[in-house]
Amino acid sequence: MENKYDVAVIGAGPAGYTCAVEFAKQNLKTVIIEKENLGGTCLNNGCIPTKFLWQVAKTKQIISKSFEYALKAKLEPVNFSDIINKKNKLVANLSKGIERLLTANNVDIIKGFATFKDKNILSVKTSEKEIEVFANKIIIAAGSQCKNIAGMEFDHKKYINSTDALNLTEIPKTMLVIGAGAIGVELSSIFSCFGTDVTLREICPQILPSEDTELAFELTKVLARQGIKVEVSCTDTLKDKDKFEKILIVAGRQSSAEGLNIENIKLNLDNKKFIETKNYVTNIDNVYAIGDVTGKGFLAYTAEQDGINAAKNLLQNNDPVPKVVFSFPPSASVKSVDFDKCDDISYGKVSFSANARAQIEAERTGWVKVAIDNKTKKIKAVWILGANADELINIATVIIKAEMTITDLSKNMFFHPGLAELILEAVRNVKN
Ligand SMILES: Cc1cc2nc3c(=O)[nH]c(=O)nc-3n(C[C@H](O)[C@H](O)[C@H](O)COP(=O)(O)OP(=O)(O)OC[C@H]3O[C@@H](n4cnc5c(N)ncnc54)[C@H](O)[C@@H]3O)c2cc1C
Repeated sequence: MENKYDVAVIGAGPAGYTCAVEFAKQNLKTVIIEKENLGGTCLNNGCIPTKFLWQVAKTKQIISKSFEYALKAKLEPVNFSDIINKKNKLVANLSKGIERLLTANNVDIIKGFATFKDKNILSVKTSEKEIEVFANKIIIAAGSQCKNIAGMEFDHKKYINSTDALNLTEIPKTMLVIGAGAIGVELSSIFSCFGTDVTLREICPQILPSEDTELAFELTKVLARQGIKVEVSCTDTLKDKDKFEKILIVAGRQSSAEGLNIENIKLNLDNKKFIETKNYVTNIDNVYAIGDVTGKGFLAYTAEQDGINAAKNLLQNNDPVPKVVFSFPPSASVKSVDFDKCDDISYGKVSFSANARAQIEAERTGWVKVAIDNKTKKIKAVWILGANADELINIATVIIKAEMTITDLSKNMFFHPGLAELILEAVRNVKN
């Protein structure tokens, strides 16, 4: 049979392409099938476009802060479609890099839409024809999609999703953002920075509903200072919908599992229609599922880790997962996996304004907060709101994964003047 493989991977997002490369390295004949662009949501409509736009907005902020350095810089009016073109070039370039990675590792690439015929045979609709692909092992890495809210259809004009928002060619005058999770907060921050009058509504009592309440509260104040109108505990999010030029709905993600003809193999889904797995294996022994399609993680790096683990036959990770939100300044947190079970905790906190490097960078907003387990003196959680939180949190993740105590950390020297000193300082400030 022409299209006969050891492994077929459906979806070339971070979970799928990482997994395909890992299998191919084991000398298994591997194919990856992708219906759109290599790189998945992360590269095309997620992590990379949002962080590019955030970086542009941040550069704009730095220029407007030039007086902090006794400089006089002036910004010409922004042409948003030029910025989107730059973003598209970056994405296309990175997508070519993924293609090179796959081909260098002898992974065959098929551009087409895959569905199950049976547990070993996929039917793939390409632009020219329909073909069959046979594989001993099939990995579903089909990801997730933007979810709309009850009674509301995306028309992709006024009612838009995150993908539409990342491809607007003009800056909207007004925007209602529904959903204050990480994506909602990031897009609100970015568009507000470009001049959009943003209202951010959340049904839960705080923004970033699963985040530390103190951090969420502080971030709410930061967003408000930026000019974003934040409304929480909002039951009628669309009450004055006519007032807004754009309504961006970012109220969660839905699985891409349906549409794969999974009924042909009787694949089990959970009650939210994500694929049920145990250590990446589904209820069908040769069919695996990884990344967003399993309803776990919803992060590119957890999806990649799934891809590696599934290919290496490793068990599911149970490590601290750093979380970052690209606001201005960014916020981030990481907790030990047993943090919620700790019942005797002390906290230490230090403000960015107390740090020399933060003063040099004119980044005085925010703080670092740490939690220590009083029984073991181990550092159990770190929350950061402030400049470079997105990078600093990786140091905190290593500290927590290594189960360092206050004494262990105190033996380390951090470069001065540096923002990472804030973590040492917060640990020294623990009150018990
Ligand atoms: C706006 C936004 C910002 C984000 N920012 C970040 C961030 O900063 N950091 C972070 O870690 N995460 C971020 N994420 C989340 C991250 O993008 C996802 O968690 C990650 O892409 C999931 O990877 P995946 O491989 O599981 O799925 P995806 O990346 O969704 O890839 C799935 C792929 O499968 C393909 N596919 C689906 N069905 C089929 C089929 N039947 N046949 C063939 N191909 C198919 C799709 O076209 C897609 O390319 C963001 C998400 C969004 C929406």
